[in-house]
Order: sequence, then structure tokens, then C-alpha cells
Amino acid sequence: MTSIPPLVDSHIHLYEFDDIELESLCKDDYVMLAVSDDILSSFKTVEIARKCEKVIPAIGVHPWTIKGEVKIDPLIDLINKNPVRFLGEVGLDKRFVPETFEFQLRVFKEFIELAETYKLGISLHAPDAWRDALEVLKKSSVRVVIFHWYTGPLDLIKEVIDEGFYIGINVAAKFQKKHAEVIKVVPIERLVTESDGPYRYRGVTLKPSLLPELVSFIASTKGLSEHDVRIAIWSNFSKILKDAGLLL
Ligand SMILES: [Zn+2]
Repeated sequence: MTSIPPLVDSHIHLYEFDDIELESLCKDDYVMLAVSDDILSSFKTVEIARKCEKVIPAIGVHPWTIKGEVKIDPLIDLINKNPVRFLGEVGLDKRFVPETFEFQLRVFKEFIELAETYKLGISLHAPDAWRDALEVLKKSSVRVVIFHWYTGPLDLIKEVIDEGFYIGINVAAKFQKKHAEVIKVVPIERLVTESDGPYRYRGVTLKPSLLPELVSFIASTKGLSEHDVRIAIWSNFSKILKDAGLLL
């Protein structure tokens, strides 16, 4: 009998959890790609990853925190001194903060250059800017990208997949109909799970403990067994890590 692989949380803001929660998450059966929101949280995330081997750190500046020019030099220093292989949460956002789009685009392009130089993977945020982000990525040499909590047009998914990128399905799919539709369209080979914890959505605090329910939701949507879904998602995530230069 094959053993069950760990649950995958491909997008979580771990630095926002308290020490007790962190300790318990680290003991549980999760492998987590921990994203950051700004320079300070990037440093915190790298520190958390140093203490918990199930945490893969991603550093960056979230589009929501961009108000003007951003100096990303401290992050370059962080990459040079630590085993950082991912940028996140970075991207573009025309839904929640359209007023800063011009700055966001400038910063995003800087991050793309950084990812090209260091061959980093990206956890991408792009509400209502999915095509804008895809176009920037297509022109780059960046090959490892997870489109986090994808809620974009269903007909754009094929283009995302054709580029070799992955789609992040959030635990909120169970109660966000638009997101649930995405599960039907994305082939199981290109899908990864995520919590985006501890973000609050429609009164629910999103967290990794909701991942088993998501796995069973994906299984029933796709007509697969939960076991097969867990194996597929772990295999996808392992490939993402390997392609970003991480050895498991
Ligand atoms: Zn997030």
C-alpha cells in the first residue's frame, strides 16, 4: 500500500500566525509555501522557514502594499544570503487597488527581472489583471509560476497551462462558486491547493486545516478518489519545487 503524501498549502501568510499556531502547523502534515507582503514580513518568513523544515519561504511585496516606488534591494540581499527560491506574493491587481496599477506594474517587472536573474519561482496574485500578468510572464524567461486563487476568465486557463504554469485552488472554492468552476477546467496535473491563511473571507478564517475538505471537494468535482487527488497535488508541488531548484 502506498503511503499518503503530505497536504500542500502552496500559499499561506505564515508570518501572521502566532508562535503557538506556527508550532502546531509545523508539526502537522503540511508542506507550506509561505508568502510575504512587504520587506519586513519577507525577513520574518525567511526566519520561520529556518525553524521549520516544512516551510518554503517566498519573499516579495504584495500589490496591496504598493503606494509608490518600492526599493527591493533588501530582498536581493535576503536572496543572496539565504536559500530563497520563490517570490510571493507579487503581481498585479486591478480589482482591489486599480488606482496604483502603474506602480504595481513597475514593481512587478522588477520582480520578474529578479526571478530571471536568480531563476526563482513565483506565487502570483492577479485579481482582474490575470491577462496583464500572463503577458508580462510570457515575455520573460520565468517558468515556475503558481496563479494563486485563480478567479480569472475560464478561457484564459488554457493559455496559462500552455505556458507550463500552475493554478492555485483555495479552500474557499467550497463556497465561492466562480472559483469552484475553475476546478472543472484545470487538468489535475496543473492544480495545487492553498489556504491563503489567515485571510478572512466571507466570515471564514482560511487556514490549512480546511485543506482535507478541499481535497475531497476536488475529488468529487473531478470524479477521482481523495487518495489520487492527494498524490497528484503532491506530485505537482514536488515538480514545482524541483523546477525552482529545491531538492526534496
Ligand atoms: Zn495571499
